[in-house]
Amino acid sequence: MTDIYEKLLGAADKNHIKVGEEMRKHTSFKVGGPAACFVTPTEEKELSGVLRVCREEEVPYFILGNGSNLLVGDEGFDGVVISMDGFAGCEVDRETGIVQAGAGLSLARIAQEAYKASLTGFEFAAGIPGTLGGAVVMNAGAYGSEMKEVLRSVRVLTPEGEVKEIPAPELNLGYRTSCIIPMEYVVLDAKIRLKEGDPVSIKSRMDELAGRRKEKQPLEYPSAGSTFKRPEGYFAGKLIEDAGLRGFTLGGAQVSDKHCGFVINKDHATAADIKALCEEVKERVRKKSGVELEMEVKTLGKF
Ligand SMILES: Cc1cc2nc3c(=O)[nH]c(=O)nc-3n(C[C@H](O)[C@H](O)[C@H](O)COP(=O)(O)OP(=O)(O)OC[C@H]3O[C@@H](n4cnc5c(N)ncnc54)[C@H](O)[C@@H]3O)c2cc1C
Repeated sequence: MTDIYEKLLGAADKNHIKVGEEMRKHTSFKVGGPAACFVTPTEEKELSGVLRVCREEEVPYFILGNGSNLLVGDEGFDGVVISMDGFAGCEVDRETGIVQAGAGLSLARIAQEAYKASLTGFEFAAGIPGTLGGAVVMNAGAYGSEMKEVLRSVRVLTPEGEVKEIPAPELNLGYRTSCIIPMEYVVLDAKIRLKEGDPVSIKSRMDELAGRRKEKQPLEYPSAGSTFKRPEGYFAGKLIEDAGLRGFTLGGAQVSDKHCGFVINKDHATAADIKALCEEVKERVRKKSGVELEMEVKTLGKF
């Protein structure tokens, strides 16, 4: 990987490249070994240069938001992690209700900006600990709303290195899915459309939802939120509970006893503990109810 570091130097600022960066610092599970190279570009030109180098050199790369839906293996990732942290601008137009924000900006911050401008419609996302880019990719949602309802368009970098603006209806936004990953797009920024609202009601809705999260979710432990997708016609948490797995522990990983849909890093779990526990949960749920659970959390690297 010394080679790729040298090549990246031709595309990115030296201060934006780290070698052997521990991914545990960048994931909400707080696990994950080193990334061979970890780059934080701050401009589109730099980002597209880094991607070009990776493609030309056939080095695997991974686009990182806030790592809140990601499990990285203990052995790390033998490739280039590209953090979108540097793309975090935000412009709010109160007249039109359009908020344009960088892919690396947190949803919490966007919700705050919307609230300050008395714009309603984004309260649901305030407590989701991801970035705007990650939320577009996942069509993140909570409490009956999802990104699809507010997203207007995204600007992406295509694999060919072109910048393209895509209207939301063309993104195939579905339950925790979109066309971004299959199309190998990198989200640069996005426009969301909100409505004029009453700041008191906006604040009270955000506070109410934050309270519900605190009450129902094991926020005191590292996790990646709901570990499994909701199978059609079921709730993953209920299936897991019915399989007798509330509090089920493997190494340092545990099925939360507060919310069975969350796998948590209870006590210095390794990524391998978490992965093995997820496999065991899937197996036991399959045996008990015949339902195939699918991971919502993405995995990366060697375990
Ligand atoms: C406590 C907790 C609660 C949660 N609650 C919810 C919830 O209520 N609803 C919900 O939907 N999710 C929830 N999540 C999961 C997670 O926050 C969301 O999936 C979020 O959208 C992930 O965003 P991220 O920036 O962290 O993405 P990451 O985890 O960094 O990445 C997720 C995927 O998106 C890709 N990606 C990220 N940014 C870009 C980009 N700019 N361009 C291209 N690809 C990109 C990555 O390569 C990866 O494949 C929760 C997680 C936690 C820890």
